[in-house]
Amino acid sequence: MKTIDLRSDTVTLPSEAMRQAMANAEVGDDVYGEDPTVNRLEAMAAERLGKEAALFVPTGTMSNLVALLSHCGRGDEYIAGQQAHIYRWEGGGGAIFGGIQPQPLEFEEDGTLDLDKVRGAVKPADHHYAVSRLLCLENTQGGRVLPLDYLGKASAFARSVGLSLHLDGARVFNAAVYLGVPVSEIASHFDSVSVCLSKGLGAPAGSVLCASSELIDKGRRWRKVAGGGMRQSGVIAAAGIYALQNNVRRLAEDHENAELLAAGLGHIEELLVSQARTNMLYVTPPAGSADALRQALAAEGILLGGGDTLRLVTHLDIDSSDVERTVTAFKRLCAGRK
Ligand SMILES: *Cc1c(COP(=O)(O)O)cnc(C)c1O
Repeated sequence: MKTIDLRSDTVTLPSEAMRQAMANAEVGDDVYGEDPTVNRLEAMAAERLGKEAALFVPTGTMSNLVALLSHCGRGDEYIAGQQAHIYRWEGGGGAIFGGIQPQPLEFEEDGTLDLDKVRGAVKPADHHYAVSRLLCLENTQGGRVLPLDYLGKASAFARSVGLSLHLDGARVFNAAVYLGVPVSEIASHFDSVSVCLSKGLGAPAGSVLCASSELIDKGRRWRKVAGGGMRQSGVIAAAGIYALQNNVRRLAEDHENAELLAAGLGHIEELLVSQARTNMLYVTPPAGSADALRQALAAEGILLGGGDTLRLVTHLDIDSSDVERTVTAFKRLCAGRK
């Protein structure tokens, strides 16, 4: 029986057509700037995001790191969410490699950072302090889509206090499809945007950092320093091109499937089920039962993420019959607990 892997959208497998595109990719040495497929992907990503240039990197973590190193110098500071990937889940790379200090703040309920609190965290120009240089937002944040009017306020605020603005847009295409706007409309508020090709877009690896030519020139140097200068990487860039051409609009199906899951699981009395947030939802079973429930589902080939709260992520390898099978299994296992 098929394994239904809802742990993350990183588990998506390259389709046959994507593998064909990879096999047929024209390649060269990208460190010399001579890989035509990488160059095509970078141009395509820059164009989609409405930026001057883009840089293909192996991971989202390296993309965020290269952004930090390109925006900030030693002794500078970036402001980000307490639970932001760039701060919490990337090993402190900015501090390790750049001497860059993070200033984390709690996210609000909607995944935004309160701009008054950010204002309070910006350091005065005084030699006691690190130099506040960069504000980092995340969209989607835990699946939540940041409101467009908030982005406008955030960029006006950042400009008014002299901060640059970076978006960790690992899933920014989910946000754009959810809002029904071109991704460039979201990106227009930011100086730099990092996008993962390896999540819901279905590529096996790769992210793109999109920004001004000046910032990307700096980033190209930092990518090399970080060990991310790859050679015939057109083989993987081809998957990214395929993903941008074929797997963006279909993200709407993932959002629909997340809603179907939320609706189905919402009927089970024992569970506290969040609303679907783009392609994610969160399910809280009775205290102390999450691990047992996760294991029982795993025994049926249904894999979930999270801790005491279960995280379910839909993606291109999940269809509506998988949703049905998941809801049915939950119902049976929850009834069995009574
Ligand atoms: C996955 C993710 C990243 C990092 O991507 P990797 O390719 O796993 O390094 C960065 N930010 C967010 C919000 C993510 O979900």
